[in-house]
Amino acid sequence: MKLQSENSLTVVKNISKITNFLNSSIAEDFWTDWKWQIKHSIRDIETFEKKLGIKFPLEEKMKLQKTIERFPMSITPYYLSLIEADNYSNDPIFRQAFPSIEEMNIDQSDLLDPLGEDKDSPITGITHRYPDRVLFHVSNRCAMYCRHCTRKRKVGDVDFIPTKEEIMEGIEYIRKTPVVRDVLLSGGDPFMLPDEYLDWILTELENIPHVEIIRIGTRTPVVLPFRITDDLIKMLKKHKPIWINTHFNHPREIVPDSIEALRKLADAGIPLGNQSVLLAGVNDCTHIMKKLVRKLTQNRVRPYYLYQCDLSMGLSHFRTPVGKGIEIIEGLRGHTSGFSIPTYVVDAPGGGGKIPVMPNYLVSWSNNKVILRNFEGVITTYKEPDNYENNNCDLDCDNCNLYLKMESPEKVEPVGIKKLLDDCNDSISLTPDGTERIEKR
Ligand SMILES: *Cc1c(COP(=O)(O)O)cnc(C)c1O
Ligand code: SF4
Repeated sequence: MKLQSENSLTVVKNISKITNFLNSSIAEDFWTDWKWQIKHSIRDIETFEKKLGIKFPLEEKMKLQKTIERFPMSITPYYLSLIEADNYSNDPIFRQAFPSIEEMNIDQSDLLDPLGEDKDSPITGITHRYPDRVLFHVSNRCAMYCRHCTRKRKVGDVDFIPTKEEIMEGIEYIRKTPVVRDVLLSGGDPFMLPDEYLDWILTELENIPHVEIIRIGTRTPVVLPFRITDDLIKMLKKHKPIWINTHFNHPREIVPDSIEALRKLADAGIPLGNQSVLLAGVNDCTHIMKKLVRKLTQNRVRPYYLYQCDLSMGLSHFRTPVGKGIEIIEGLRGHTSGFSIPTYVVDAPGGGGKIPVMPNYLVSWSNNKVILRNFEGVITTYKEPDNYENNNCDLDCDNCNLYLKMESPEKVEPVGIKKLLDDCNDSISLTPDGTERIEKR
């Protein structure tokens, strides 16, 4: 019930801001027109000051101006209307949307392409890092430019607008690469593309027999919920398993308009996930995160990942120690529904992919017992079986008492630690390239 009253309070505040914004001369249906929202996005400091009814000191304003010349600003009127002007400087919406002069403090550890996406790119627009799935950048436009964006270097940069030819080459790459069974459409924001164009991409991908699922990463439900139109839903429903991941970072972003967008997507039968970024001064708090994940699940969105803020240029003021993320997970596991707990990950600088990090629950281990602790601090013993018969796997499925009769057994070379664990693989160690001791042999 508390949620309800909070929401209606926001609505009242929003309506007064909306009327402010519209100068009461434009009818309300423009407000819910996503193209109108994009066209009227706030891209300069003066307009921002005017809309919010604030004034920055001159010196700060000049620095802000410099900041947006380097990292452009673009805020939808809708997302701006969620800012509480009275206390804007601490507002989580403000901090995600409006530049901080600290973005110009480039830290020693900042990297231009921290996730090595360009290195793992066999072809423009495709990042192929994991064995069975690819990231496919189909758009470089975003409804709003998040200040904490990993791809800050690309967003808004005209040089990175993928052409139709480039998209076709990406599709060709996927067609010619049969191990790819999962395609993640990303950007930018794929929902910034026109319906027909996205429909074309989805149709092409779906005609590739080895593509089993398509995922779309979009922040539109958060910053431009009106993009989730009935026509878009109708188009999406035609396509084969599509999963959507959105990007809510704070419970204040879950308001009637975004709730409605999520309802439409969930009602269309699309499984919804959420990826949050841990941001200092925005959501680096166990209570905020607990509230966020509860509100998400209440709206049929499964929290998927919580990202450690990466090492992109100009994000140092947003970074927290990794310990903060572990503390948040400690505050969630056991304390709230298991399926509302995201996996906390550090995206490995240099391109190692996502590495899960969490509190330790395994206290000790002997040859037949494990000692575990739960969220309350209870320490317990799990007695392991005395006569477990291991199925020594030699990949000869026809003569195995487990049932895995596959039409086309996967013949993929095992990678990493799994390779060391596999029964039928002779590898006994992994050695980094350039290990001097080995090279001397
Ligand atoms: C995150 C990511 C994926 C998808 O990873 P999942 O753990 O399957 O969600 C795929 N490719 C790249 C390059 C990624 O960064
Ligand atoms: S929506 Fe995503 S890609 Fe776009 S600016 Fe925000 S974080 Fe970056």
